[in-house]
Amino acid sequence: MLLWASPLFARTAPIAFVGGYLIDGTGGEPIADATVLVDGNKIVKAGPAARVKIPSGARVIPLRGKSILPGIVDSHMHIGASGAGSVDPREFRPVATENSLIAYLKFGVTTAYDMAANPRLSEMKAALAQGRLIGPRLYGNGYGITAPGSHPIRLLNEIGVLDLLGPYYFQVSTEPEAVAAVHKIVEANTDGLKIFHSRAESATSRYDCDRDKLSPEVLKAVIREAHANGKKVYAHISFPSEARDVVEAGGDVIVHSISMAETGADEVLKMMAERGVAYIPTLSIVERDYVAHSDRYFTTPLRGKVWEVFFDSVVNPKSVVNERNNVPGLRNDEKRSMDIAMANLRTALKANVKIAMGTDSGNNGILHGATVVREMELMNSGGMTPMQVIVSATKTAADVIGQGAQVGTIEPGKLADLIVVDGNPLENIALINSVELVVLDGKIIDPGNLQYKDAGK
Ligand SMILES: [Zn+2]
Repeated sequence: MLLWASPLFARTAPIAFVGGYLIDGTGGEPIADATVLVDGNKIVKAGPAARVKIPSGARVIPLRGKSILPGIVDSHMHIGASGAGSVDPREFRPVATENSLIAYLKFGVTTAYDMAANPRLSEMKAALAQGRLIGPRLYGNGYGITAPGSHPIRLLNEIGVLDLLGPYYFQVSTEPEAVAAVHKIVEANTDGLKIFHSRAESATSRYDCDRDKLSPEVLKAVIREAHANGKKVYAHISFPSEARDVVEAGGDVIVHSISMAETGADEVLKMMAERGVAYIPTLSIVERDYVAHSDRYFTTPLRGKVWEVFFDSVVNPKSVVNERNNVPGLRNDEKRSMDIAMANLRTALKANVKIAMGTDSGNNGILHGATVVREMELMNSGGMTPMQVIVSATKTAADVIGQGAQVGTIEPGKLADLIVVDGNPLENIALINSVELVVLDGKIIDPGNLQYKDAGK
């Protein structure tokens, strides 16, 4: 009887990644010819080869010419939505969600935060933990809080999913209602709490009213109660005044760029830096309509790595993204928003605001997994150095979603979530697209071998 071969007795050998260029996510000096030692699901040691002893019996993986980084953390996504064009029924089948999870791993994302409001979040977390699904570590809010009829209620109604998703948004207008909503969310055991403090947005126009937002009293009540229960508050905003309301009420994270023209952005960003309020610019969603038409973005390498159903749907002339481009004036508005978002990124950077990488994937045209590449390129072209971008997509993103003690850097004691990319992404951030190996919880995955599941016709 091969007793030693039974899982009870089996112990995988430590793994030594040797000869790679180590960018550990802390922002410290990178190390050429580094050794990263992993035992079980933990990082044991990382540093110059001369200083890390490789135990006998370790499995050695040579990484010459490659870089080793922490797994990427997408701090803002929506796993329940396809991110494609909403023109193919297969996008709405459960298998689409399973393939979205696989997409994250293919692009080196080992941790992701579902920003709101996902009816299946706890179910999916359990399935991932039990190995019934394969995907990144998943955290999220599960629910949203907004003012009656405000964003995104109107939008959900317009696109015909209010009956389906409406119950996952608490519409509150008084302090007792707010407190009751927070208690329900806390009881559902979610990781944080999403609030919408924004003018209602519609599918075909933007921000045509400035009313129905949470009052300052209700905002304060939500945030106070969330904090009393150990939950961070993540806020959807667009205008500087909306961000300011949230910051003054004690919110923790602004989950979008300030992308609308109004004075006061500089002051709010300065306040955020002073109070430690984080900023997730989600530039990809602001840029959305350029992306749909970008020959450079939707090209062969993506076609090979993205599930074909999503790819074909998003480039379809009838996709939601392409239809939006036919709405008079909308695209110009969005171009203007992008300019404002980019300017505010520079201001945030100068003011030392904590900036976390997040894509808002799941929205139409914002593909799961693939968009991290675009987002990181946009952050780079918005004035962040490749090193700053990498830190924002690893350490800072992990900190902002409350997982910084476990993941986000390559340091002894952290969980072994790593990626290996070809070349040096500090020389060209686009190389973050060339993920050759993913290590998730100490297990090595070849992203090229991950197969998307067939959804039938
Ligand atoms: Zn979002």
